[in-house]
Amino acid sequence: MLTAALLVPLVWPAHPLQAAPTAAIQEHAAVVRRILVEAASRGTADLLLSELCTRAPKRLAGSPGAEEALRWASEKMRALGLEEVRLEPCSVPRWERGETARLVIEEPKALAGASLAILALGGSAGTPAEGIDAPLLVVHSLAELEQRASEAKGKIVLFNRPFDPAVLDPFEAYGGAVDQRSEGPARAARAGAVAALVRSVTPRLDDVPHTGATRFEAGTPALPAAAVSTRAAETLAELARPGATVRLRLWLDCRTLEDVPSWNVVGELHGREHPEQFVLLGAHLDAWDVGQGAHDDGAGCVQALEAVRLLRALDLRPRRTLRVVLFMNEENGLRGALAYRDAHLQELGQHVLAVESDRGGFAPRGFSSAAQGETRATLAAIAALLEPIGAGALFFGGGGADVQPLEAHGVLTAGLVPEAARYFDVHHSEHDVLAAVHPRELNLGAGALAAFAYVAAELLELRSTPATR
Ligand SMILES: [Zn+2]
Repeated sequence: MLTAALLVPLVWPAHPLQAAPTAAIQEHAAVVRRILVEAASRGTADLLLSELCTRAPKRLAGSPGAEEALRWASEKMRALGLEEVRLEPCSVPRWERGETARLVIEEPKALAGASLAILALGGSAGTPAEGIDAPLLVVHSLAELEQRASEAKGKIVLFNRPFDPAVLDPFEAYGGAVDQRSEGPARAARAGAVAALVRSVTPRLDDVPHTGATRFEAGTPALPAAAVSTRAAETLAELARPGATVRLRLWLDCRTLEDVPSWNVVGELHGREHPEQFVLLGAHLDAWDVGQGAHDDGAGCVQALEAVRLLRALDLRPRRTLRVVLFMNEENGLRGALAYRDAHLQELGQHVLAVESDRGGFAPRGFSSAAQGETRATLAAIAALLEPIGAGALFFGGGGADVQPLEAHGVLTAGLVPEAARYFDVHHSEHDVLAAVHPRELNLGAGALAAFAYVAAELLELRSTPATR
């Protein structure tokens, strides 16, 4: 996942849904159980994830790996019997990490030459070949940088606010720390800094840096910007005590090229009564180019595919169409999500629900939605059918970054919510590999997604189907 926005409470626009009575939902308990049993006993989400992670482990938008992932996803949708399989175009940024990411201490002299674990942030500029040699300034927030802007000129600025372990929801803690990664380097550039470092946005204290996107305003030059491991950040903060001078040298050879064409992959299971109405199952096919993008978001992609496979295996065709959309470029641009919204503007009023899986492949706990009133009660009753696997909760929150652009058009969104305690240990790092995903947990998540989407596609009623919204 990319943004903290999915946690921001929303004022829900009036959407054209009619809530289903709880008794009608209860009638689906038996079919939900069949779906869950199929997922638990004969689920293939883990096999699908193994294929994706083997064939296209590095699949940042615009890269050869992303192209391979697109081929795999199209082939797989056809092999699993999805209908109307197609590629829908979008244009994506093309950022290359390069080969070199090195940070060494120049001063204090006693530690000269010691190197620290870093990873370039997506969107970072490269450094000159001889690197950038500059004194270090440590800050803990964007606000502190504003206050100390006069000290930042000519420096390498380290943003060192930790992921707060006292915040009970890890996604909320992530949201509370990630602004220094997404906005910090641009702010540092404005203050005259020559490079920016950001403490990895993870609760773990270790030597593994976590990458992610950083944004520079159009027209302003990008700065070299890298994530440092949490342990490296602690080391630097300790060295930079008042009165001490710390000098660092940074080498990065990443670069941004011209935008390139890319695609979302779309496939459907046609509805038996209302094929023109949709429950969208979304995930993002692109992933950071470290690890294998197994949890983020290979897991979501294979769960969306597996959800349709499960329904087909049980000969279940819901009243409305299930539309699987594997979005491109969630991680560093969201271009696929915006292209989907724009290309389908005329039929967004016929989307009864858009549900995303982009919080990792851990054991499912329930779903999130910002819906209120009767619609919320309906979603809560559908989620409650998943109690047999401990996934019966309806949490308050958004659906996910890729479906969020649909919300302004009145589309109801929801997100699969898995267990979250370990997600940010692996997120955007070399730890996000197939071996970190538990097969049964992943398959139960696919079963939960299939069941939730199936019952929603049976029961959520549109009050009207306006041509344009
Ligand atoms: Zn993601």
